[in-house]
Amino acid sequence: MDVDAGHGAALGGALPTQPGELPLARRLRSLLTWPTNDTDPVSQLVRSHRNIHPSADPSVLRRAYTIAENMHRGQFRKSGEPYITHPLAVAEICADLGMDTTTLVAALLHDTVEDTRYTLQALAEDFGHEVAHLVDGVTKFDKAFYGKAAEAETIRKMIIAAGKDVRVLIIKLADRLHNMRTLGVRSAASRERIARKTQEVLVPLCDRLGIQTLKRELDDVVLLHLEPDEHARIARHVHDRPGWDAYLGDVVAQAKVALRRSRVDAEVSPRPRHLYSIWKDTVAGGHTAPFDLPRIVIVVDGPPTDCYAALGAVHGRWRPVPGRFKDFIASPKNNLYRSLHTSVCGPQDRTVEVLIRTREMHRWAEYGIAADFRFPRSSGSDTARVDQLAWLRRVLDWEQEAPDPAQFLESLRCDLAEAQIQVVADGRQVVLPAGATPVDLAYELGTDRGDHCLAARINGRLAPLSSELEEGDVVEIFTENDAESGFEASAAPRGPRREWLGFVKSPHAQMQINRWFAEHTAPGISIADKVRLGRATIGLALRKRDRGLASDLPLLRLSEELGYPDLETLLVAVFDRAVEPDAVVQQLIDLVDHRQ
Ligand code: MN
Repeated sequence: MDVDAGHGAALGGALPTQPGELPLARRLRSLLTWPTNDTDPVSQLVRSHRNIHPSADPSVLRRAYTIAENMHRGQFRKSGEPYITHPLAVAEICADLGMDTTTLVAALLHDTVEDTRYTLQALAEDFGHEVAHLVDGVTKFDKAFYGKAAEAETIRKMIIAAGKDVRVLIIKLADRLHNMRTLGVRSAASRERIARKTQEVLVPLCDRLGIQTLKRELDDVVLLHLEPDEHARIARHVHDRPGWDAYLGDVVAQAKVALRRSRVDAEVSPRPRHLYSIWKDTVAGGHTAPFDLPRIVIVVDGPPTDCYAALGAVHGRWRPVPGRFKDFIASPKNNLYRSLHTSVCGPQDRTVEVLIRTREMHRWAEYGIAADFRFPRSSGSDTARVDQLAWLRRVLDWEQEAPDPAQFLESLRCDLAEAQIQVVADGRQVVLPAGATPVDLAYELGTDRGDHCLAARINGRLAPLSSELEEGDVVEIFTENDAESGFEASAAPRGPRREWLGFVKSPHAQMQINRWFAEHTAPGISIADKVRLGRATIGLALRKRDRGLASDLPLLRLSEELGYPDLETLLVAVFDRAVEPDAVVQQLIDLVDHRQ
């Protein structure tokens, strides 16, 4: 929609419609707009898709559109547009990212199961299980059944679905991007609420998946809704700064000469920052005026070693600013972003930022996990994909450990939001959340190392287990099983200490410590604990069926129906396995579903 509007406006500007010129202008206009002027609403989508995947079959896209259009007919967006414009726009965002046909089909249908009478089963029959899985992954839980827990449960369900197929997350991000683009028609309060939630969970997820093209737009639209004045101020600043383009043109030209002299084949171009990134640096640096340095990117044709040759050429031409060089090729960021970063004292003594990377790294920097779909035959991204999914798998491990959806969401938020540091241990780089301690590191190295860690040496010095690690620290972890540690091991292994929970930073370490205590305090368990664990058991069994409980009411009713004196007795029976949790859950679901 937005693209069309811009297009039309640009045409209007190019062809002034003065009375005398009208016939010619009209004829020209009809010629120029002809390709997008056909009545087929799917043609733009098909075109974008085939631009990137020339051999894709468009017929299934048309079929999906027809069904979605049919199902959503009579529904309208808050803006008054027919509802179908939304799934179509989401599919177009996915197409522009370079996603495959299956993703586009799922995007067209993504709201049908939630908002229309189309069932998941019918969808699976019409389009196959792959599409059904994708749509199910982005379908929200019913608030009527889940109450306040609905949101946390929905995110957990989405993450679990993404563990099987990461395309779920990409559709969700595209969905949110379009909703954010069209947030203008909502009330101020709901704009702020939705923008905040986007910023807390979806933007960091997007960052973790490395999809910068989406993240840039999400960032900017979040800023627009949360800080409209600041957004306008930065946009104004970027829009009119005299001489900026000429200056960057000069830097690019000089960099090209320097690279040619060093015999490095590369493309050089300006690399503007997006508004949010300028705003963040402005605020962080305490600047009164918007702070934005000129920036260029050098994409070398050859292997990664050429990046260092290019770096040499740039530093030979302009003096580097001390302390600003970063090697994200040797130590990639947690989202697998790789590049060399440096700042130099450029023409007219102005500081210029320079990014240097290979084509492969550039693709990953722009599209992240989506690069696998956009460039299916490109080599080298396989390992990246595996690493990416390793992160997702670990998130799924917590899912098993955290019985409560709110706790899971909190862990996820924590893991996504934290700044990261890299330390060296066991001769390798380990990424940890900022503020992490040796205990976090020990658990990162392995559950056993964590459970039995005794002491740590940081940069050659003994340090308390609660010390905050810093970027670049070299750390040794000693455990009670460690014969060479020089620490007197006590007679019996002692395991983690409760006070560790007070200082560990990573959700992973926290969960592992909790797990240890849960496993080692089972004997002599109190009734209260049995009630709690019985409830958690039911929660887990419910979640296996993608359900949850908003309140105790259904449980209470069931305990009456089953003849228990009260709810607690039923929960203890579940814990003692006097009744099968799955059987209880089945009865619970029957009870709730028939009541609706
Ligand atoms: Mn939607």
